[in-house]
Amino acid sequence: MKYVSTRGGQSATGSQAIVQGLARDGGLFVPESFPQVCADELSLMAKEPYEARAARILGRFLTDFTQEQLAGMVKAAYARFDEHGVAPLKALQGGVRVIELYHGPTLAFKDVALTLLPHLLTASAKATGENRQVLILVATSGDTGKAALSGFQDVPGTRCAVFYPQGGVSEAQRLQMVTQRGDNTRVIAVKGNFDDAQTGVKRIFADPEAAAAFDKKGIVLSSANSINWGRLAPQIVYYFSAYCDMLTAGDIEPGDAINICVPTGNFGNILAAYYAMRMGLPVNRFICASNRNNVLTDFIRTGRYDARREFHLTTSPSMDILISSNLERMLFELCGRDAGTVGGWMKALKETGAYEIDPASRAALTGLMYGAWASEADCAAEIARAWNEEKYLIDPHTAVAMKAMREYRAETGDDRPCVVASTASPFKFGRAVSAALGLPTDADDFTLCDRLSKATGWAVPLSIAELPTLPVRHKAVCTPEDMLSALMSAI
Ligand SMILES: *Cc1c(COP(=O)(O)O)cnc(C)c1O
Repeated sequence: MKYVSTRGGQSATGSQAIVQGLARDGGLFVPESFPQVCADELSLMAKEPYEARAARILGRFLTDFTQEQLAGMVKAAYARFDEHGVAPLKALQGGVRVIELYHGPTLAFKDVALTLLPHLLTASAKATGENRQVLILVATSGDTGKAALSGFQDVPGTRCAVFYPQGGVSEAQRLQMVTQRGDNTRVIAVKGNFDDAQTGVKRIFADPEAAAAFDKKGIVLSSANSINWGRLAPQIVYYFSAYCDMLTAGDIEPGDAINICVPTGNFGNILAAYYAMRMGLPVNRFICASNRNNVLTDFIRTGRYDARREFHLTTSPSMDILISSNLERMLFELCGRDAGTVGGWMKALKETGAYEIDPASRAALTGLMYGAWASEADCAAEIARAWNEEKYLIDPHTAVAMKAMREYRAETGDDRPCVVASTASPFKFGRAVSAALGLPTDADDFTLCDRLSKATGWAVPLSIAELPTLPVRHKAVCTPEDMLSALMSAI
């Protein structure tokens, strides 16, 4: 399997795409074609455990590795999930099926890809003849940083450095990062917001002098950001897995089309669902759920992407984003893989902050996707509704998706079985969840999680409960201007 750039200027093997992250022409790597999974194979997969489903799907895309290699990587990565497994499916009323993607070490769906990425990356580096140490640089608004640190902890041949905005992440998220173990991990607070941290990281990546200085130390930089193909491919698996589990449970018959609803930020998770459909998974419609930063809802409804708007901090912070990087891969498919057209839209976005797609691409988009968004009040009401009506606890990101799905059903009358992606543990956002349930919030986040646990009978995950007792191992702070020197002295 070969990969091509959405800007048309480079093709690569799977290993090259993973090591490189971004294509040299500034585009994103996409598979040259979509391997097909037929109905008979789906029925076969329904009898397999998650790990076998994963090795099967990944094997279609990552042809540089043997099936045995992939099976080994998958087994090592997913042994880190708790007793519920990687993507258990919960049945709610009205044909709603929730895939809980938060049973990994950092309690958010990013673990599904970031526990596997270190294995894929080290094997890819080897396959491409790269023998320098790989330094993973991450700017995070909360979840990605911890998932990357945890995934790369003590992985030979790699290091991982994370920049987070000081004061811009939840207390649980901050403690998860600064207590990170592993001799190869570094965490640095930036006196600024997420954009400052992200801009600083991009500057380091683009700095030839920095690259030369790292090379002298035997280090090459790489990214664990969701534009990396190695993060996207593992996410395709759980949509197949959810469908297989629904077949097994008798929720659907072979060939039945389902709907899929995803709380969306950078557009990676919902894009993986779309790729599953392109591989043959029967899907009727994708519901793209946003919070108050509803640039994608407007785009799906009007064909015009306009990032020139106020940025809002919400209780679903991992979706507080105005430029969804992975949308570029979707645009590439919508316009019939015309790299010139995609390049034009991306240029307009960079120069003016907006672009408008042509009528044919727009028709393709609205045929596939429905966009809806949830206000903070909608989100809190969904958390309360799920608990009061079904005794099911959800985090604010999942609640945004539930609201969007409900709106879709009310507007279209299409109430066929719908898979909703649940992307984080409710205990990662204990304050917002407690407030939504009407519990008092006059204490620190850990006390709130304890009270939430007592009120609901749901156990606080160990990785949250233990946080206040762990030693703080990372205390570095820097200004946005000093990120490179802070990084150099940290390593
Ligand atoms: C990252 C994240 C999202 C958004 O996913 P994208 O792939 O960026 O669209 C949603 N929910 C949670 C909890 C996340 O951490």
